[in-house]
Amino acid sequence: MKRCIATVSLSGTLEDKLRAIAAAGFDGVEVFENDLVNSGASPREISELAESLGLTIDLFQPFRDLEGVPDEVFRKNLERIERKFDVMGELGAPMLLVCSNVGSQALADPQRSAAQLYAAAERAAQHGIRIAYEALAWGRHVRTYAQAWDLVRRADHASLGVCVDSFHTLALGDDPRGIASIPGDKIFFLQLADAPKLQMDPLSWSRHFRCFPGQGELDVTALVEQVLCSGYRGPLSLEIFNDVFRSSDTRQTAVDAMRSLLYLEESIGAHDSAPQIAGLDRVQPPPPQRLNGVGFLEFAVDADTGRELAAWLTRLGFAQVGTHRSKAVTLFRQGRINLILNAEPDSFAQGYFQMHGPALCAIALRTSDEFQALERGRAMLGIQIEGRNGPNERNIPALRSIDGSLLYLLGGDEDSAEPFATDFLGGDVPTEGVGLRRVDHIAMALPPESMNAWILFYRSILGLEPQPVVEQAELYGLMRSRAMVAPSGRVRMTLNASEGRNSMMARSLSAFSGSGVHHIALECDDIFASIEGLQANGIEFLMTPANYYDDLAARLDLPEELVDRLRTYGILYDRSTGGEFFHIPTETFKGRFSFEIVQRAGDYAGHGEPNAPAFLAAQARSLLEPIAR
Ligand code: MG
Repeated sequence: MKRCIATVSLSGTLEDKLRAIAAAGFDGVEVFENDLVNSGASPREISELAESLGLTIDLFQPFRDLEGVPDEVFRKNLERIERKFDVMGELGAPMLLVCSNVGSQALADPQRSAAQLYAAAERAAQHGIRIAYEALAWGRHVRTYAQAWDLVRRADHASLGVCVDSFHTLALGDDPRGIASIPGDKIFFLQLADAPKLQMDPLSWSRHFRCFPGQGELDVTALVEQVLCSGYRGPLSLEIFNDVFRSSDTRQTAVDAMRSLLYLEESIGAHDSAPQIAGLDRVQPPPPQRLNGVGFLEFAVDADTGRELAAWLTRLGFAQVGTHRSKAVTLFRQGRINLILNAEPDSFAQGYFQMHGPALCAIALRTSDEFQALERGRAMLGIQIEGRNGPNERNIPALRSIDGSLLYLLGGDEDSAEPFATDFLGGDVPTEGVGLRRVDHIAMALPPESMNAWILFYRSILGLEPQPVVEQAELYGLMRSRAMVAPSGRVRMTLNASEGRNSMMARSLSAFSGSGVHHIALECDDIFASIEGLQANGIEFLMTPANYYDDLAARLDLPEELVDRLRTYGILYDRSTGGEFFHIPTETFKGRFSFEIVQRAGDYAGHGEPNAPAFLAAQARSLLEPIAR
C-alpha cells in the first residue's frame, strides 16, 4: 500500500520536510497549504523537488467552509476554490481536501450542501482534480463519516468522494464498522492519527495532541480494517497535529512516522475478531520474540568511577565474578542479575562516558531468538550496531536506542551462561549476595518530547505493551509515566518524563543524550531480610517521612503492625486487587541513578506508581538538602 504523510506533521521548512519524508521511505505527501504559503519556493519548484526526491503529491489541504452556505457566499467560495485549483495545477496535486463547514453561516440543509459539493466537484473535474470531503469532529452540521458519505452520495459526482480520518471518528467514539459499507471507490483518501485518551473538546485535542499510530490509546487498526473492507486500496496517510512534533528533529520524526505505519500495517488483521481482508500488500517482519528477562546491564565508567561503582555494587551484595578476556570490562553478579562495568579505552562505552558521565550505556535482553529479534528490529527501522570483538568472543546483535545507548539481543533466559562463559574469565560463578534475584524493571527519565518515540520503539521492535498513562505532581514538575511491559511479564520498562526544567526527572537526564536511567529495580523474595543485609553492608536508603505512613494507613486500611514494620524499614507499599508491592530506593550514585529493592507478592502487575511522588520527594531531600539530614 502507498505510504504518505501530511507535511503539517513535521517541523521545518517545506523543503526540509520533503527531504526528510523521502529519506524515511515514504511514497507521497499531503501538502499543507500553510507550508506552501510560507515557502520561498513556487508551487512548480516544490513539485519539481518532490519529483526529484521520488515523492508524489497526493493531496492538497485544507479547503474550509465551502458547503451549506447561502448562494452569494457560495459564489465567492467557487472563486476561492478556482484559485486553489490553479495552485494545485502548478503543484501537480490531483486531489483537494474539503473539510466540513465549521462556520456560523453554515445551514442545516443537506440538499443545499450536496448541490454545492456537486458544483465544486464539477469545477474540479474541469481541472482534472478530485475532491475528498472530510467530516471534522467539530463541524457545524457534518461531524461523522456517515454524514459526509450521505452528502457525497446525494451529490453523486464522479470527482467527489469522502476522506476518512481516524482521529475524527475515534475521538467522537463513533463506531467505525459502518465505514466498510461505503463503496471503496468512493473513499478517496484515508488519514491516520492516534491520540492519548483525554477529556477535552475535540478541536483542541486534535490540534495539539495527535500522535502517530501506536503511540496513543485509540484503536486505529480497527478503523483501518473497516476502511480496507470497503475495498479502499489508496494511500495510508499520516496527518498529525502535535505541538512537540512541530518543534522536534524533522528527520527523526519522519523515521518515527514510517515506523508507526509499518507497525500499523503489520497489526492489520492480527487480532481474533479482525475481518478477513484479501489481497493486501504489506510488510510482514518476524513477530516479536518472547522476552525472557534482562541478560545484563552495562555501565560506561572510567577507572575512577568504575572503582567507586564497583565498591557500591559490592555493598549492594554483588560479587565481581569475571573479567573480560580482552577488554577493561568487569562483570558483577547477584542471583540472576548481571551488571557490567565498561572502562575500555577507545570503545563505544568510553565515548558514552565522555559525553554523559557514568551512565547505563547498554541494556541486554534475553529473547527466544536473538537473530529473529534483530531482523524484526531492522524491519522496524532499528539501526544495527556492529561491535568490535576479540578472538573467540561472541558477536552480540545490537540496535541503537532512541538516545544512542545500545539494546543488545541475547538468546536464552536469565539462567543462560552465555555470553559470560565465553567472553569472561571466571564468569560462571553463582552468588547469592543479600538475596537480590533479578531485574524487575528499569525506570527511564526522558525529556517529555521523546516519550512518544520511545513508546513506539519498544512497542514495534520488542513487542512491549504500553500501560495506561499515569500523571502525578512531583516536587518541581508534573510527571507523566507509562510502563511498557512484555507479554511474558519478564521485561518491564517504565518511561517517565516531567514537564519543567527543574523537575526531579529532568535532573536525572544526561545533559547530552537528554535521557537516562532513573533507577533500576531489583527483585528479592524477602525485602525485610535483604534490607537488613544491605544495611549491614553500609548501604543507605532514601528516608520516607512519617507522614507517608500515616497517609498509607488511612488510605489502604492496613493492619497496624504491617504499617509499623514498613515504617521501621522505610519501605514504600502499594496494593492491587491481586497482590502487593514493597519497594525501597537506595541513595543515588553521584546524583544520577539509584537502585530500588522490590518485592512482588501475588500477581501485582504495577511498579509502585502511586509512590513515585514520595520516591522523588525523598530523592530531592537527599540530593538538595544533604546537610539538613
Ligand atoms: Mg484530517
